[in-house]
Amino acid sequence: MHELRKDPLLQRWVVVLSDDSKPPSFYCADRRRGIPPRAPCPLCEIGDDAVEIFRIPNSDPARPPRVRVIANNHPILQVEGSLGRRGIGMYDAMNGIGASEIVIESPTHDVEPDERRTDNLSLVLETYRMRIEDLQKDMRLRYVLVFKNHGRAAGAVYDHPHSQIVATPITPRAVKDELYGARTHFGLKERCVFCDILREERRAGSRVIAENRDFIAFVPYAPRFPFEIWILPNEHQYSFVSLKSEQTPNLASIISLCTGKLGAVLEDPPYNMVLHTSPNKVPRPGHWQTLDDDYHWHIELLPNLLTHAGFEWGSGFHVLATTPEDAARYLREAR
Ligand SMILES: [Zn+2]
Ligand SMILES: [Zn+2]
Ligand SMILES: [Zn+2]
Repeated sequence: MHELRKDPLLQRWVVVLSDDSKPPSFYCADRRRGIPPRAPCPLCEIGDDAVEIFRIPNSDPARPPRVRVIANNHPILQVEGSLGRRGIGMYDAMNGIGASEIVIESPTHDVEPDERRTDNLSLVLETYRMRIEDLQKDMRLRYVLVFKNHGRAAGAVYDHPHSQIVATPITPRAVKDELYGARTHFGLKERCVFCDILREERRAGSRVIAENRDFIAFVPYAPRFPFEIWILPNEHQYSFVSLKSEQTPNLASIISLCTGKLGAVLEDPPYNMVLHTSPNKVPRPGHWQTLDDDYHWHIELLPNLLTHAGFEWGSGFHVLATTPEDAARYLREAR
């Protein structure tokens, strides 16, 4: 079983896989991971051994389901077993318990025309919502992370449209940092920091890419990556589970608009998409009372355009070669 280990200095957890990759698998020439392009795609033809977790069937039962969720057969974290929290000398570890699921976003391998893509994306978003809701019932789990790797350079193992769900027994550090920041802002001002950001971006206007009735997309004021995009619900919602069904098509359309614009401006760049929702509510003494008011779910689109160099790793600074205002203008103007 994989193991989770905690760094005692920075309190961040790492997953140590038990597969024990030998050095050749890390050779630079072998960085192109995943299946070779001409091999039969494992997400087009699901094997009999695949464990199906959820499906949205096609209206024609003879055709494959429109959206399907299967258990990842190379899971980072696995569902069966106990957490086995333990101390090893001064260190903390636990078993790699959690859930690793693959969302097959479309029965067809190739990218679909815009209209159908948006239509299917609404079903994919509904699927995320239902899977998060379901996984939150498991009391061992603290967080459900939904993400998408697009392009091999961004970590995609398959070319077939897909995303992933990984539920973890601890709240990830990246989310905790946001939660603490949001709580501090709320403590000072009794306002949600994301609602404040949203108002400020709308007032300034220079970083806004697109808006519809329910959502806004903009380049953040101080992003980590050039052309980074955040998508937020206009209405305050702390959890993605609170997303209303009638809002889903507007979310699908703003996501496809933004990924289409990234593709147009940067010629189909590899990117990662992450959905940041609030952590699972685990009943325990002293649990975060203001979480519903101070956190606000959002989607981050992170194009992989640069490699981190020594300065970035050593300092934690991010260097942006395009200003957020220029990036937003390029994206706004892209068709
Ligand atoms: Zn395929
Ligand atoms: Zn808010
Ligand atoms: Zn975030």
